[in-house]
Amino acid sequence: MTEQPLTIAIDGPAASGKSTVGYKLANDLKFLYFDTGAMYRAITYLALDQGIAPTDGAALGALAERTLIEIEPPIREETDGRQYTVRVGAQDITWDIRHHLVDINVSAVAAHPAVRTALREQQRRIGLRGRCVMVGRDIGTAVLPEAPLKIYLDAAIEERARRRHDEALQRGQSGDYQMLLEAMKARDHYDSSRAEDPLRAAKDAHILNSDALSVDEVVGEILALAKKEMGLNRASCSSR
Ligand code: C5P
Repeated sequence: MTEQPLTIAIDGPAASGKSTVGYKLANDLKFLYFDTGAMYRAITYLALDQGIAPTDGAALGALAERTLIEIEPPIREETDGRQYTVRVGAQDITWDIRHHLVDINVSAVAAHPAVRTALREQQRRIGLRGRCVMVGRDIGTAVLPEAPLKIYLDAAIEERARRRHDEALQRGQSGDYQMLLEAMKARDHYDSSRAEDPLRAAKDAHILNSDALSVDEVVGEILALAKKEMGLNRASCSSR
């Protein structure tokens, strides 16, 4: 029997609450928080910057193969609300990967099998080390199907678009709700209908809908599942 890594997989569509919930859960358990979407976004940002078309699978695959994307907890000076810092070489691209142009191109980039193969390998290696909350679209189905606890987090699309809209306003950006909603629908459709590792719940995933739940309530439900199915609780995880 292969040993199961102590990793929790959280998948779900855009703005379903994965990153807020995953981050809090990882802090509570003293686990590493790893947001795999940041890797697809980093490749998309670099491709746009270098003039590589989102349709050029071969060039994008090569870019993903040769690029070392570093994702680390923020250092003390980095007090701008980031959950983690994303670096390529000496360049800090943490906020560049959140640009609207990345939002509208990332799904096309992420659909190329060559890109997915390159990034999946790196993600899997980190997930197998254990003590990790890994967040994405295909963690439970493709990156780490042996994860002992898989969550599929969902919410109504209007609620998800409203959350992104509120976040944009809080950052002082003017966000058009209707535009955001349409872009999110397009991204959901693209991510769920691609041939390679589409967004879907693993057969053995627990499906949680966060529409009527607070972040703390969702985290509480996942902690209860982690205790039941993995024997984990906050206290037993405090010696990282
Ligand atoms: O989670 P986030 O919105 O940052 O992800 C950006 C995009 O990266 C997704 O819309 C999807 O196209 C891609 N992605 C993926 N597989 C993952 C994580 C993200 O295809 N595991």
